Amino acid sequence: MRLFSATLATETNTFSPLPTSLDGYRETVFLRPGEHPDDAPRMCTAPLFVARRRAKADGFTLIEGSCFAASPAGTTNRAAYEFMREEILDQLQRSMPIDAVLLGLHGAMVAFGYDDVEGDIVQRVRAIVGPRCVIGVELDPHCSMTLERVRLSDIIVCYKEYPHTDVVERAEDLIGLVVRTLRGEIRPVMSLYDCRQISSYPTTLPLMRAFVDRIKDLEGKDGILSISIAHGFPYADVPELGSRVLVVADKDKAKADELARQLGEELVSMRGKTMPEFLDVSTGVAAALAFNDRPVVIADPADNAGGGAPSDNTEILRHLIERGVAQAAIGPIWDPIAVRLCFDAGEGARFPLRFGGKTAPASGVPVDAVVEVTGLARDCWQSFGPSRVPLGDCAAVRTGGVDAVLITKRTQALGLELFTNVGINPHALKLIVVKSSNHFMAAFGPIAKKVIYVESGGPLNRDYRNVPYRRVSRPIWPLDEETSPALIY
Ligand SMILES: [Zn+2]
Repeated sequence: MRLFSATLATETNTFSPLPTSLDGYRETVFLRPGEHPDDAPRMCTAPLFVARRRAKADGFTLIEGSCFAASPAGTTNRAAYEFMREEILDQLQRSMPIDAVLLGLHGAMVAFGYDDVEGDIVQRVRAIVGPRCVIGVELDPHCSMTLERVRLSDIIVCYKEYPHTDVVERAEDLIGLVVRTLRGEIRPVMSLYDCRQISSYPTTLPLMRAFVDRIKDLEGKDGILSISIAHGFPYADVPELGSRVLVVADKDKAKADELARQLGEELVSMRGKTMPEFLDVSTGVAAALAFNDRPVVIADPADNAGGGAPSDNTEILRHLIERGVAQAAIGPIWDPIAVRLCFDAGEGARFPLRFGGKTAPASGVPVDAVVEVTGLARDCWQSFGPSRVPLGDCAAVRTGGVDAVLITKRTQALGLELFTNVGINPHALKLIVVKSSNHFMAAFGPIAKKVIYVESGGPLNRDYRNVPYRRVSRPIWPLDEETSPALIY
């Protein structure tokens, strides 16, 4: 058995002011065959990483293709996308004959000229490998589960957890199913239910937690091979944006249809109940200060770089400074210019610095303050599950009682190292403000005595009725009250 694996991935926020070029991939994941590290997957590269480990025991030869991934931002440059795609397709062509293809994709990638990048990739892969080759795809649940990709691949598996702590486990699931298909032990069929809704589904909240635990229980029994809840990515404005349920069953299409319909209807009944409560900045900070244990974590999802935001909105920071809050830290603020100035000034220096508030109107105004440089560190990273996420050079600056962590490689708050790298002990703080929607919960949830979500002026509005959609197909909740959820495949 000959398997081929490659990755081409980013999460595209079509409203983001930051287009994604080849440089965005070069800075994040740009690995050619033979360059893949052995220690941990890099973003969406889990299928290749796991296949490499399993090749011998499962009796297949793995042909490694290129892996390209960029941090979430705006639409990908068309020439850049086509260059990376053609490199992978060319590698595949030269590796033929191939029995199965394992693709580590994101699922909400948009390039100029391509609304459904993953559908385009799967279609071109299918054209090369023919109808008998098994195509297995791993996707982030923040994906548009388009009809095109479901029609043209054999097995699609999404991560189940949000925060995405199960990327490797789901790659194991995918490869297990692909190998069993090749051996003739199973014949996967897929069914897709469209819930006609836009929402967010952290699995750290009780209702979604119970739902995910239940679908995990259904898998591997009674001919049900895999169940994926495609949450949808609310900031990729494409026609098929929305939440969908995908069921993979063994041979029995009617059974897959029935379960997809049943679980889809359940997800529809959960509308409005899967997201945390959001407070305005002033109310949220007051609630944090009134809480008599520490640390309290405030999340700023509207400026989440993980959703394509610049991560330099200053609204909460300025509020903390104006209010004279002490023993507080905020991060990450993406400002490479300010980091450079801090390195120039040196650790311990006090000097006037303008930082944050640079990229776009939704970044707010910059902070102008005399800051103390309290920490500097080169080439930092933070952990997220088994992955290491680069932060670049980092600086900590203190204004009054508030420490801000400035970074050079734009990313969201994921690991405690974001703060400890530059000498800040998050355990000792009264208040920690993180720019992240929910991934921060993996590391900060366990140390937080309380978590508060606020709605800042950042670009990722949490009330989807205020997002200026133009392309998404209607009607869809909560933009429309009357919708028609249905089994669509
Ligand atoms: Zn995601």
